[in-house]
Amino acid sequence: MSAPLPSDPATDPSFRDMLDTRPSLTMDARDGLLFEGVPLHVIAAAVGTPCWITGAETLRHRAKALRAAFEARNLPVNLHFAMKSQDHQATLTILRQCGYGVDIVSGGEMQRALHAGIQPSGIVFSGVGKSDAELRAAIEHDIAQVNVESVEELYRLDEIARACGRVARAALRVNPDVDADTHDKISTGRAGDKFGIEHRRAVALYGEAARLKNVRLVGLAVHLGSQMLTAGPFREGYMRLADMVREIRAAGHTVEAVDCGGGLGIRYRDEIAPSPDMLAGVIAETLGDLDVRLSIEPGRWLSAPTGLLLTRVIETKAGNPDFVVLDAAMNDLARPSLYESWHGIMPVAPNGLTSPTKLWDIVGPVCESSDIFARDRALPADTKRGDLIALLDTGAYGAVMSSTYNSRPFAAQVLIDNGKWDIIRQRQSVADLIAAETVPEWLTAARNDHG
Ligand SMILES: *Cc1c(COP(=O)(O)O)cnc(C)c1O
Repeated sequence: MSAPLPSDPATDPSFRDMLDTRPSLTMDARDGLLFEGVPLHVIAAAVGTPCWITGAETLRHRAKALRAAFEARNLPVNLHFAMKSQDHQATLTILRQCGYGVDIVSGGEMQRALHAGIQPSGIVFSGVGKSDAELRAAIEHDIAQVNVESVEELYRLDEIARACGRVARAALRVNPDVDADTHDKISTGRAGDKFGIEHRRAVALYGEAARLKNVRLVGLAVHLGSQMLTAGPFREGYMRLADMVREIRAAGHTVEAVDCGGGLGIRYRDEIAPSPDMLAGVIAETLGDLDVRLSIEPGRWLSAPTGLLLTRVIETKAGNPDFVVLDAAMNDLARPSLYESWHGIMPVAPNGLTSPTKLWDIVGPVCESSDIFARDRALPADTKRGDLIALLDTGAYGAVMSSTYNSRPFAAQVLIDNGKWDIIRQRQSVADLIAAETVPEWLTAARNDHG
């Protein structure tokens, strides 16, 4: 379970704890908070705030560590980054260079992945409610596999593939009815969740699908949930998957591939984050001797710690409680208002670690009561207008979930790489927002304002 939004001052980690558990962050006596060695105040001065920062070395390091965990067990696995967590072209380029493919959930993501040079053979298409046009595009590009979410989608895929004169490779996404023990809004593998094909139906359907001429079923897929912190639900889900593989084979069908999904959690607050070795161990134990091609689709574990959201204090507001009003808001980072998620919030100034603190409610300027990043959170007692603040671990489900609510344009994005840094997305302007809108001529031509 993710920690609830109201912080618990008694157990919240200190700034020192946050630094010690995040190798990408350091505090410099003169320059204040550094991310991958670059002073954040320098970026804020040049680019303005709010600004998303991504650390390339952190991403590479995690990509390699995940791969290494499977290699250490001699367990070959295809790695597909769940790009819905962070879909920037630079991110995809780095992961392509690390040998990763992607897990996509829309035609738009497919276009992005192809643009970043990901080969179609490295693309797996998941997600409920793929449109005909999206399925057709997937078939035409001959991507590795479509993870089919329903009986209806399986037949639709067959029909569209027939019209294209192709045979589509597909896996059945099964719902193993396992409780991932995570937040309700990010659970995906329970019987009542909208995802996947019911466990008992899947075995029968696999046989039925063998008769389809334009779909070749290659195997099964699951995705149990997100921000999963313990081995138990993974083990339970994969054991059920293994049972299904055996049942399907016993009925005389071929199962070549098993897609284990994503869901590996990270430490946002004080969670004991599972290691890639835990995941590799559970997969080896449950699916390792089935002689199937294995793949995983991690999103958050790879991308969350690679990012932070740099923001400035607009003003503080004394009262009960005292408020810190930031220039970042729920339209930028939606997770706290959407999932009540806890993000580390750190002062950037050099004395941030040593100043006496007090408890603040930390909010954005959007006109919604839910535009709150944290309640009762410690920040320096002398926090004031103009101070820089970093919201940590925002690399996953951060910039990708932004909206332009309240006519707040998309924030700028910066990539840091080995001491270099550059803008990778210009701050959007309000003019950009307006430029996409048109007013029908009949609206302005025929009327005067008070007619
Ligand atoms: C979201 C999603 C993932 C990634 O989940 P994380 O918790 O970010 O690892 C993987 N597979 C599918 C099908 C998804 O929908």
